[in-house]
Amino acid sequence: MIDLHIHTTASDGTLSPIELVKYAKQKNLSVIAITDHDSISALEEAILEGKKKNITVIPGIEFSTEYNYKEVHILGYFIDYTNEELIKTINSLKNERINRTYKIIEKLNINNINISMEDIEKEAKGDVISRMHISNVLLKKNYVSTKAEAFEKYLGIGKSAYIKRKLTPLKAIEIIKNSGGLAVLAHPKLIHLENEKEFISLLAQNKLDGIESYYPGFSSSDVDRYINFCNIYNLIPTGGSDFHGHNRLTSDLNMLKLPQKIYLNLLNRLNV
Ligand SMILES: [Zn+2]
Ligand SMILES: [Zn+2]
Repeated sequence: MIDLHIHTTASDGTLSPIELVKYAKQKNLSVIAITDHDSISALEEAILEGKKKNITVIPGIEFSTEYNYKEVHILGYFIDYTNEELIKTINSLKNERINRTYKIIEKLNINNINISMEDIEKEAKGDVISRMHISNVLLKKNYVSTKAEAFEKYLGIGKSAYIKRKLTPLKAIEIIKNSGGLAVLAHPKLIHLENEKEFISLLAQNKLDGIESYYPGFSSSDVDRYINFCNIYNLIPTGGSDFHGHNRLTSDLNMLKLPQKIYLNLLNRLNV
């Protein structure tokens, strides 16, 4: 069985790359993809540990992008993480994240919320600061009663402390393709698109390779709809748990029990 959407401490997961591979072994996975937000820093360690544990670790990434005021995540698989353009993009995204975080803090302070960069850095173990870490701080300081509330009130797109992202979905696809990888639209249902079909068609015309069609919380009619889009636009249906460790109790590794076939389909696409 396989799981193609996993976060480690390199972004906002709670398990280190090595702990993650060990847990994947426990969960009977034979192929996993590590897809940290805007980060490749877990890949080398995870791949090495995978070799020891006889688990194939696909080098991956999950880019956060923005399109028409919607947050769109693009997954990259089989990326060459030594590719210069990729590394340059990741470094500039890291700087952008830090600048965004300062701006978010400023906006939260205006809302009479006492939060500092130090608070957030304490929360972020890896090198990528995300809004998940900010929401944890807001929760710990009792400004909100759930992490979801932090996004609904302050951190979500269009909310009082939201700062726009610069990367677009098409640019993310281009970077992934230029580093030899496959680009997949992550959890499309979570984007809440009004014209899903046109959007997927646009991405398909710009070299998208697949749609994450299996995802925790997707109904069977959601899955059918995405597989249908895959058939129309010659894309590969993929899936993953979006495991973040103990940060999110709604997902666990290998909860979807996805077959090896999906991995083979991706390999075929890669070798065409
Ligand atoms: Zn995502
Ligand atoms: Zn994710």
